[in-house]
Amino acid sequence: APLLDIRRLSRDYASGGLLGGKHVTRALAELSMTVAPGTIHGIVGESGCGKSTLARLVMALDRPTSGSVHFDGEDLFRLSQRDLKRKRRDFQMVFQDPFGSLDPRQTVGRIVAEPLHVLEGSPGRAERRDRVAAMLEAVGLAPDHADRYPHAFSGGQRQRIAIARALITEPKLVVADEAVSALDLSVQAQVLNLLMDLRDRRGVTFLFITHNLAVVDAVADRVGVMYRGRLVESGPAQAVFARP
Ligand code: ADP
Ligand code: ADP
Repeated sequence: APLLDIRRLSRDYASGGLLGGKHVTRALAELSMTVAPGTIHGIVGESGCGKSTLARLVMALDRPTSGSVHFDGEDLFRLSQRDLKRKRRDFQMVFQDPFGSLDPRQTVGRIVAEPLHVLEGSPGRAERRDRVAAMLEAVGLAPDHADRYPHAFSGGQRQRIAIARALITEPKLVVADEAVSALDLSVQAQVLNLLMDLRDRRGVTFLFITHNLAVVDAVADRVGVMYRGRLVESGPAQAVFARP
């Protein structure tokens, strides 16, 4: 069964136009797709095609105009607030700008541990410390980096910190929205290798969203191409990017 099953998902944004006229932007138009567990599913498309709108809906941070998102067999937008809160540990997000999304006043340990605090039955201090140390190691950082602050780290290291933070609740799905776009090419390759390693060794599923064709070609098992709120092409990465 797919981990993520998106059916005819639409999202309209209403905005007051000039002279009081109403204008509706259809950011997503009946988009359907499935994501198999333990795969990296790329979503690629130019700016404004609806990628972030899709990410917000999959993370249940927004509600659709119509359509559904089933996560692990459950309809996200029909869950009670309580059940949704329980479900949230199963999906996490990594954003584009690792400096902007990491609070500069908090230690790396605190930043990485933060998703654990909002869990029901959150682990105690000793277990939090163990899990933070293990997670930093899993993303190629040293456990004692937990005592330092984000500005002491390079862009690639900060992105690893953001990934450690996303993985600390052992989520089934990580939505990565332009997660490597701000990095230098060689650092991009390192972070992409890390994601593929997490897929292979831990079975993490990624929805990997980017405007960058080369990046998605390098990392994704399957790719969906978006254009103006629609999925215009999808399939295995080799097929979608096949050159004649
Ligand atoms: P992308 O992430 O691919 O750049 P977005 O999902 O951010 O695309 O935007 C898709 C479309 O929806 C764009 O036309 C954008 O201007 C519009 N849009 C996004 N968010 C809002 C919003 N909060 N209010 C009105 N329009 C929006
Ligand atoms: P608190 O005791 O209020 O949790 P701390 O600042 O000591 O405050 O730690 C914040 C979080 O960061 C804790 O959840 C802890 O598990 C983690 N943490 C802090 N330092 C380390 C460290 N050296 N190794 C592993 N985890 C750490």
